[in-house]
Amino acid sequence: MRLTPVFLLSAIDAAHFPGETKTFGAPEIAFLGRSNVGKSSLINALLGSKQAHTSSTPGRTRAINFFSLHEGAGDKRKVRPSLIFADLPGYGYAKISKAISSEWPKFIEPYLAERETLALSICLVDTNIPPQENDSQLIHYLQEMGKPYLVVGTKSDRLSGNVLAKSLAALKKKHEVDDILIVSAKTEAGTGALWQRIHAVAAE
Ligand code: GDP
Repeated sequence: MRLTPVFLLSAIDAAHFPGETKTFGAPEIAFLGRSNVGKSSLINALLGSKQAHTSSTPGRTRAINFFSLHEGAGDKRKVRPSLIFADLPGYGYAKISKAISSEWPKFIEPYLAERETLALSICLVDTNIPPQENDSQLIHYLQEMGKPYLVVGTKSDRLSGNVLAKSLAALKKKHEVDDILIVSAKTEAGTGALWQRIHAVAAE
Protein backbone atom coordinates (compact mmCIF):
# COMPACT_ATOMS: atom_id res chain seq x y z
CA MET A 1 0.00 0.00 0.00
CA ARG A 2 1.41 3.36 -1.00
CA LEU A 3 1.34 6.00 1.72
CA THR A 4 1.82 9.65 0.88
CA PRO A 5 3.42 11.76 3.63
CA VAL A 6 2.16 15.26 4.35
CA PHE A 7 4.05 17.52 6.74
CA LEU A 8 1.62 18.74 9.42
CA LEU A 9 3.53 20.96 11.81
CA SER A 10 6.52 21.40 14.12
CA ALA A 11 5.55 21.58 17.78
CA ILE A 12 7.70 23.17 20.44
CA ASP A 13 5.22 22.73 23.24
CA ALA A 14 2.30 20.51 24.10
CA ALA A 15 -0.25 23.17 23.15
CA HIS A 16 0.91 22.83 19.52
CA PHE A 17 0.53 19.05 19.19
CA PRO A 18 -1.89 18.35 16.32
CA GLY A 19 -5.39 17.48 17.45
CA GLU A 20 -8.26 15.47 16.08
CA THR A 21 -8.98 17.91 13.21
CA LYS A 22 -5.54 17.20 11.72
CA THR A 23 -4.88 13.62 12.83
CA PHE A 24 -8.45 12.21 12.77
CA GLY A 25 -7.26 10.25 15.81
CA ALA A 26 -5.04 8.05 13.59
CA PRO A 27 -2.47 5.91 15.42
CA GLU A 28 0.79 7.74 15.94
CA ILE A 29 4.30 6.31 15.65
CA ALA A 30 7.11 8.23 17.39
CA PHE A 31 10.75 8.01 16.25
CA LEU A 32 13.39 8.61 18.92
CA GLY A 33 17.16 8.39 19.05
CA ARG A 34 20.46 10.11 19.65
CA SER A 35 21.57 12.72 17.13
CA ASN A 36 23.27 10.97 14.22
CA VAL A 37 21.67 7.57 14.92
CA GLY A 38 20.25 7.61 11.38
CA LYS A 39 16.70 8.71 12.23
CA SER A 40 16.20 11.03 9.23
CA SER A 41 17.69 8.45 6.86
CA LEU A 42 15.41 5.72 8.21
CA ILE A 43 12.27 7.85 7.99
CA ASN A 44 13.19 8.77 4.42
CA ALA A 45 13.79 5.09 3.60
CA LEU A 46 10.41 4.14 5.09
CA LEU A 47 8.58 6.87 3.20
CA GLY A 48 10.57 6.44 -0.01
CA SER A 49 10.71 10.22 -0.24
CA LYS A 50 12.73 13.12 1.03
CA GLN A 51 9.96 15.61 0.43
CA ALA A 52 8.14 15.33 3.70
CA HIS A 53 11.12 15.15 5.95
CA THR A 54 12.06 18.63 7.00
CA SER A 55 13.52 18.30 10.47
CA SER A 56 16.91 19.45 9.20
CA THR A 57 15.31 22.83 8.52
CA PRO A 58 16.73 25.32 11.06
CA GLY A 59 14.48 25.68 14.09
CA ARG A 60 12.87 22.31 13.61
CA THR A 61 15.58 20.21 15.21
CA ARG A 62 14.37 20.93 18.78
CA ALA A 63 10.74 20.39 17.85
CA ILE A 64 8.53 17.37 17.32
CA ASN A 65 7.78 17.22 13.60
CA PHE A 66 4.45 15.62 12.76
CA PHE A 67 3.54 14.01 9.42
CA SER A 68 0.30 12.44 8.35
CA LEU A 69 0.45 9.41 6.04
CA HIS A 70 -2.36 8.97 3.55
CA GLU A 71 -3.34 6.07 1.33
CA GLY A 72 -3.08 6.86 -2.36
CA ALA A 73 -1.34 9.77 -4.06
CA GLY A 74 -2.23 13.11 -5.65
CA ASP A 75 -5.96 13.77 -6.03
CA LYS A 76 -6.68 10.17 -5.06
CA ARG A 77 -5.12 10.73 -1.66
CA LYS A 78 -7.50 9.94 1.17
CA VAL A 79 -8.20 12.86 3.47
CA ARG A 80 -8.25 10.74 6.59
CA PRO A 81 -4.67 9.65 7.37
CA SER A 82 -3.82 5.99 8.07
CA LEU A 83 -0.99 6.91 10.39
CA ILE A 84 0.81 9.83 11.98
CA PHE A 85 4.61 9.87 12.24
CA ALA A 86 6.16 12.01 14.99
CA ASP A 87 9.86 12.73 14.53
CA LEU A 88 11.27 13.69 17.94
CA PRO A 89 14.39 15.81 18.54
CA GLY A 90 17.66 13.90 18.65
CA TYR A 91 19.29 13.69 22.07
CA GLY A 92 22.81 13.03 23.36
CA TYR A 93 24.55 15.68 21.33
CA ALA A 94 26.56 16.95 24.31
CA LYS A 95 29.82 15.09 24.75
CA ILE A 96 29.25 14.61 28.46
CA SER A 97 26.30 12.31 28.85
CA LYS A 98 23.45 13.90 30.76
CA ALA A 99 20.11 12.55 31.84
CA ILE A 100 17.75 12.72 28.90
CA SER A 101 15.28 14.72 30.91
CA SER A 102 17.78 17.51 31.61
CA GLU A 103 18.72 17.77 27.97
CA TRP A 104 15.40 17.39 26.22
CA PRO A 105 12.82 20.10 25.88
CA LYS A 106 10.35 19.90 28.74
CA PHE A 107 7.47 18.71 26.59
CA ILE A 108 9.05 15.41 25.49
CA GLU A 109 8.30 13.32 28.57
CA PRO A 110 4.68 14.50 28.79
CA TYR A 111 4.41 13.71 25.08
CA LEU A 112 5.59 10.12 25.61
CA ALA A 113 3.58 9.64 28.78
CA GLU A 114 0.31 11.37 27.85
CA ARG A 115 -0.19 11.48 24.09
CA GLU A 116 -3.37 9.44 23.76
CA THR A 117 -2.97 8.43 20.13
CA LEU A 118 0.67 7.34 20.56
CA ALA A 119 0.62 3.68 19.46
CA LEU A 120 4.35 2.92 19.36
CA SER A 121 7.65 4.58 20.25
CA ILE A 122 10.44 3.41 17.97
CA CYS A 123 13.75 3.75 19.84
CA LEU A 124 16.66 3.83 17.43
CA VAL A 125 20.06 2.59 18.61
CA ASP A 126 23.24 2.59 16.52
CA THR A 127 24.58 -0.97 16.05
CA ASN A 128 28.03 0.48 15.24
CA ILE A 129 28.76 1.93 18.67
CA PRO A 130 28.71 0.42 22.17
CA PRO A 131 25.38 0.57 24.02
CA GLN A 132 24.72 4.12 25.22
CA GLU A 133 23.53 5.15 28.66
CA ASN A 134 21.07 7.76 27.36
CA ASP A 135 19.43 5.17 25.08
CA SER A 136 19.02 2.94 28.13
CA GLN A 137 17.44 5.79 30.09
CA LEU A 138 14.87 6.35 27.38
CA ILE A 139 14.05 2.65 26.96
CA HIS A 140 13.81 2.11 30.72
CA TYR A 141 11.56 5.18 30.99
CA LEU A 142 9.15 3.68 28.43
CA GLN A 143 9.32 0.29 30.17
CA GLU A 144 8.49 1.89 33.53
CA MET A 145 5.63 3.86 32.03
CA GLY A 146 4.29 0.67 30.44
CA LYS A 147 4.28 2.31 27.00
CA PRO A 148 4.56 0.25 23.80
CA TYR A 149 8.02 0.58 22.26
CA LEU A 150 10.26 -1.17 19.76
CA VAL A 151 14.05 -1.01 19.77
CA VAL A 152 15.49 -0.76 16.26
CA GLY A 153 19.22 -1.13 15.53
CA THR A 154 20.41 1.17 12.71
CA LYS A 155 23.22 1.10 10.10
CA SER A 156 23.44 -2.71 10.08
CA ASP A 157 25.08 -2.63 6.62
CA ARG A 158 28.30 -1.43 8.23
CA LEU A 159 28.81 -4.64 10.23
CA SER A 160 29.52 -8.23 9.23
CA GLY A 161 27.28 -11.02 10.55
CA ASN A 162 29.44 -12.03 13.47
CA VAL A 163 30.24 -8.49 14.64
CA LEU A 164 26.57 -7.53 14.24
CA ALA A 165 25.48 -10.53 16.35
CA LYS A 166 27.88 -9.44 19.13
CA SER A 167 26.68 -5.85 18.97
CA LEU A 168 23.06 -7.02 19.18
CA ALA A 169 23.78 -9.19 22.21
CA ALA A 170 25.45 -6.24 23.98
CA LEU A 171 22.56 -3.90 23.14
CA LYS A 172 19.94 -6.39 24.38
CA LYS A 173 21.83 -6.89 27.63
CA LYS A 174 22.40 -3.20 28.37
CA HIS A 175 18.90 -2.04 27.41
CA GLU A 176 17.19 -5.10 28.95
CA VAL A 177 15.15 -5.97 25.87
CA ASP A 178 14.53 -9.37 24.21
CA ASP A 179 13.88 -8.06 20.77
CA ILE A 180 15.80 -5.66 18.54
CA LEU A 181 14.85 -5.19 14.90
CA ILE A 182 17.87 -4.57 12.67
CA VAL A 183 17.64 -2.12 9.78
CA SER A 184 19.76 -0.31 7.24
CA ALA A 185 18.48 2.88 5.63
CA LYS A 186 21.26 2.48 3.07
CA THR A 187 20.33 -0.99 1.77
CA GLU A 188 16.72 -0.82 3.07
CA ALA A 189 17.29 -4.17 4.82
CA GLY A 190 14.72 -4.59 7.59
CA THR A 191 12.49 -1.73 6.44
CA GLY A 192 9.77 -4.15 5.25
CA ALA A 193 9.82 -5.88 8.63
CA LEU A 194 9.63 -2.51 10.38
CA TRP A 195 6.58 -1.53 8.28
CA GLN A 196 4.94 -4.82 9.27
CA ARG A 197 5.46 -4.03 12.93
CA ILE A 198 4.10 -0.50 12.47
CA HIS A 199 1.00 -1.73 10.62
CA ALA A 200 0.42 -4.47 13.20
CA VAL A 201 0.47 -1.96 16.06
CA ALA A 202 -1.69 0.51 14.13
CA ALA A 203 -4.31 -2.20 13.47
CA GLU A 204 -4.70 -3.03 17.19
P1 GDP B 1 19.94 11.63 12.43
O1 GDP B 1 20.75 12.73 13.04
O2 GDP B 1 19.60 10.60 13.44
O3 GDP B 1 18.74 12.10 11.66
O4 GDP B 1 20.90 10.85 11.42
P2 GDP B 1 21.04 10.90 9.83
O5 GDP B 1 19.95 10.15 9.17
O6 GDP B 1 21.26 12.30 9.41
O7 GDP B 1 22.35 10.03 9.63
C1 GDP B 1 23.57 10.33 10.31
C2 GDP B 1 24.74 9.78 9.50
O8 GDP B 1 24.66 8.35 9.41
C3 GDP B 1 24.76 10.27 8.04
O9 GDP B 1 26.10 10.46 7.67
C4 GDP B 1 24.13 9.12 7.28
O10 GDP B 1 24.58 9.05 5.94
C5 GDP B 1 24.59 7.92 8.05
N1 GDP B 1 23.63 6.81 7.97
C6 GDP B 1 22.32 6.87 8.30
N2 GDP B 1 21.72 5.67 8.09
C7 GDP B 1 22.67 4.83 7.62
C8 GDP B 1 22.69 3.46 7.21
O11 GDP B 1 21.68 2.72 7.24
N3 GDP B 1 23.89 2.95 6.80
C9 GDP B 1 25.02 3.68 6.76
N4 GDP B 1 26.14 3.08 6.36
N5 GDP B 1 25.05 5.00 7.14
C10 GDP B 1 23.90 5.57 7.55
